[in-house]
Amino acid sequence: MKTIGLLGGMSWESTAEYYRILNEAVRDRLGPLHSAKIALYSVDFSEIETLQHQGRWSEAGAVLAEAARAVEHAGADLLLICTNTMHKLAEEIQAAIRIPVLHIADATADAIRGQGIGTVGLLATRFTMEEAFYKGRLTGRHGLDVLVPEDLERDLVHRVIYEELCAGRIEPSSKAQYLRIIDGLIERGAEGIVLGCTEIGLLVSPSDLRVPAFDTTAIHCLAAVEQALDSAG
Ligand code: GLU
Repeated sequence: MKTIGLLGGMSWESTAEYYRILNEAVRDRLGPLHSAKIALYSVDFSEIETLQHQGRWSEAGAVLAEAARAVEHAGADLLLICTNTMHKLAEEIQAAIRIPVLHIADATADAIRGQGIGTVGLLATRFTMEEAFYKGRLTGRHGLDVLVPEDLERDLVHRVIYEELCAGRIEPSSKAQYLRIIDGLIERGAEGIVLGCTEIGLLVSPSDLRVPAFDTTAIHCLAAVEQALDSAG
């Protein structure tokens, strides 16, 4: 089994999910006492969040590149950046290490294509919903049509992520707002919904939706376990 490297803490609420899902997936594949080989580096999210919202991306990239090198030195064979948003810096992080970064948008696109879906709605941080590094990757590289909420709705989705989900708060009123926004995306033609922030699965579950949900946290973990176990034979 390969060792899965995690660049986590963004936020730790979702990194805890990565830890659980990876271990459960290895147990399902190999048997009850098996667990995933994991090397985790967990950052202080407040430092990262400040750099994000001040637009100081190259400083954030330097912090994450250093953390990725530590994960590689700890023995990881591949790296998961445990946040959709910080894939904005995936190239810088990849350039700092020799082990491969398993890109969360590529794993998600594969899952969407695997269900024969071509048009999805995307809920995520503003960075992820609006910028080329993510939405553009789904459309340009993977040929998907991606719908995002209207401007004010994007504000709400973004605010709930940073003020509630990353702070460990799960609010029923926010869940209702998310479901309303998701309904709007379905009305506009979304055949599936990408939960494109690693904490959204804590608020909304696939069973809440009338179309397939693509939970990026779970998809990222299952793709990593496939890679970790495949060459182990
Ligand atoms: N975990 C979130 C994501 O998947 C947001 C936190 C962050 O900004 O990294 O985008």
